[in-house]
Amino acid sequence: RRTPLIAGNWKMNLDHLQAIAFVQKLAWNLKDAKHDVAAVEVAVFPPFTDLRSVQTLVSADKLPIAFGGQDLSAQDSGAYTGEISGAFLAQLECKYVLIGHSERRTLHAETDEVVAAKVTAALKHNLVPIICVGETAADLELHGPSAVPVAQLRAALAGVSNAADFVVAYEPVWAIGSGQAATPEQAEQVAAQLRLVLQESLGQDVADKTRILYGGSVKGSNIAGYMREPNVDGALVGGASLDIDEFSSIVRFQK
Ligand code: 13P
Repeated sequence: RRTPLIAGNWKMNLDHLQAIAFVQKLAWNLKDAKHDVAAVEVAVFPPFTDLRSVQTLVSADKLPIAFGGQDLSAQDSGAYTGEISGAFLAQLECKYVLIGHSERRTLHAETDEVVAAKVTAALKHNLVPIICVGETAADLELHGPSAVPVAQLRAALAGVSNAADFVVAYEPVWAIGSGQAATPEQAEQVAAQLRLVLQESLGQDVADKTRILYGGSVKGSNIAGYMREPNVDGALVGGASLDIDEFSSIVRFQK
């Protein structure tokens, strides 16, 4: 019922020329594999400076690849040096935008309030926010697996109505870039708790239709396990999304 989403977060990798080569090859691989976009949606999250190139390529060749920004400003426009408005992303035909990635929360001091304001801004500009939540190793030890992600999601939904289209990404910080992926059972346990938050905050329909992704050391060899879990609807992939064959094999996961 929920279309799986495989999303590649490139982080600060691949310049606009490398982005063009990557998206072209990815499109070829999808075509070769007779990829059915109605069955599995594919999205990439390049650096801002790549987005215009990716848009030009995707729209000229009508490629079955969605794309989005890795962040946006909570503001619409004005004296905010270095920031990017959701209006600009929408203008470049971005469908999605990542919000509250743990690297933004940790390295750029984004609080739950900032994340909530960015979610509101994204929705205002008709972007689909991918709300990232996840606990650190210390959180896990102190509070157990789901307390922090649940609190982060509740906070992020402060300004969200039940008409909104959004995605949740559960990324345990200890699993990101560590090669130490959560087990499918661990991912499912937290995803189920997050779905409960959706139901409590926004109702059963939203809980039923909203996709919850797992992220953290996802590879071609472990994707199938996550996709078998009832509450995991896809993956947010970092390192493995930079390798065209590895990313293609994740997209082609077998249940
Ligand atoms: P890795 O897949 O490299 O662990 O990164 C996950 C991530 O942070 C995606 O947003």
